Amino acid sequence: MTSRLTPLFLRRLLQYLFTAICLLAGVRLYLFCMWAAGQSGAFVARPPVAEGFLPISAVMALKFYLFTGLFDPVHPAGLTILMAALLASLLLRKGFCAFICPVGLASDLLSGLGKRLGFGGAGPRWLDLAARQLKFVLLAACLYFFLSMPLMAMRGYLMGEHNIAADASMLRFFLAPSPTTLIVLGVLAVGTLLARNVWCRWLCPYGALLGLAALFGPTAVRRDDGPCTKCGRCERACPSGILIRRKTDVRAPECIGCAQCVGACPEPGALEVRAMGKTISWRWLGLGTAGVILAAWLIAEATGHWASALPLEMTKPIYGAIFRTL
Ligand code: SF4
Ligand code: SF4
Repeated sequence: MTSRLTPLFLRRLLQYLFTAICLLAGVRLYLFCMWAAGQSGAFVARPPVAEGFLPISAVMALKFYLFTGLFDPVHPAGLTILMAALLASLLLRKGFCAFICPVGLASDLLSGLGKRLGFGGAGPRWLDLAARQLKFVLLAACLYFFLSMPLMAMRGYLMGEHNIAADASMLRFFLAPSPTTLIVLGVLAVGTLLARNVWCRWLCPYGALLGLAALFGPTAVRRDDGPCTKCGRCERACPSGILIRRKTDVRAPECIGCAQCVGACPEPGALEVRAMGKTISWRWLGLGTAGVILAAWLIAEATGHWASALPLEMTKPIYGAIFRTL
């Protein structure tokens, strides 16, 4: 009997699960902000998981933690999620992009629609090669700007009102988008319809950071020239447009470790997931990544590194001010 658990099925299962968690967090954050703004009587606790959408704050908090040993008290969940994503990438490739990130799911679904409409390739090779570097340029610019900041100035930013309510600002940004935001999102959506996963492959600096972590990890898809017939099914299944037939070890920073190539390969032994020289089940990529994220959450909850340490009397007026004018 053929197993129903294909790499794509497992991937979608985890993506929908984590996207549902994010949507629920968005609703709870909205209700909290409305309460803080005095526009709703019912108190709903602010969901720490929403801090996963604050990568800039998390990167700065990580530097502050590494240099001072002080764990960010403002958005500890954001720092926990970043550290877990980096660890998962180091161990199991960019599973955060493949299985956890809701933007990855939206990008995949749009790309799938583009494919049905007759578009959706990786783009011309020369353009793909050049555009893939953009995310590293963006990452380098972000890291330079934020990490060159002196520690005291960084502390001031982390404890400042702008950072404290950054999750509310992010929510407001999407609930009441400016014309520029709509144009940028529209261009990205059209780009993703025309060429596969434009944001993830070419532009996302967070994905670039995780891709660099994955470069040093022990896990990679490996192609064996013996049984491989060079049929190309793996490349057609790859959401990152990687030219797998030209490689033995697939270590490109764009490889998200989704294992869809392994699921598409018809030749036993031609394409496998290898870790430290041993073949492992492709299931480990998704289940392992989800496991790292869930374990990080449980450990952070148990050790007091999940919920913000700031008192509600302090944060309420700051959050309220952002939503009072919505
Ligand atoms: S799908 Fe398998 S057999 Fe076909 S090119 Fe890829 S690795 Fe080789
Ligand atoms: S090479 Fe395989 S595991 Fe990597 S992104 Fe492409 S399909 Fe996914």
